[in-house]
Amino acid sequence: MSRKFLLSGAIALAFAATPLISGTATAAPATGQQAAAVTTVYYSTSGAPTFRSAINAGAANWNNSVTNVKLVERSSGASLRYTEGNDPRGSYAQTDGHGSGTIFIDYAQAQQYDNTRITAHETGHVLGLPDHYSGPCSELMSGGGPGPSCTNALPNSQERSRVNSLWANGLRVNTAAPQQRIYEELPVLAHRTR
Ligand SMILES: [Zn+2]
Repeated sequence: MSRKFLLSGAIALAFAATPLISGTATAAPATGQQAAAVTTVYYSTSGAPTFRSAINAGAANWNNSVTNVKLVERSSGASLRYTEGNDPRGSYAQTDGHGSGTIFIDYAQAQQYDNTRITAHETGHVLGLPDHYSGPCSELMSGGGPGPSCTNALPNSQERSRVNSLWANGLRVNTAAPQQRIYEELPVLAHRTR
């Protein structure tokens, strides 16, 4: 008896809710749902003026490769900052892997490696990808693994789909994830420069 009552109550609720749901869907433009899925990450190049064009080229490569996240340069209020300088441990990305953090471009590495590959690779960390130095040149996150002759600055299909799935739900509401500093340690370069 009470079960039957609950069931009919649920049906009544479903009927009552239907006009609201379809009303919302009709009101929203057809393209609204797709646009809502894209998260914008704002980045600043003011701390890395030497590499601004390479940074923008690397960001454009990502923007042309993925659909769920978009990188846009902005002078203030950026969650991602690019910086430059000298660090004996090389370039790094200090990031939560979800759009926030600092990318440092080391001058010595920038003289050896393709600059757009460096910036696109570091940006890959900020989008959530780990290093995979043993990968081929066609893989962006193989970084310095394939050596300085590798100038590919585009993510491969696996990297694109990984980033798209990581960003499928937009920005994480819970931003408690700590930032981690990922150094580009490049033993291959050390051998080559001796
Ligand atoms: Zn890396």
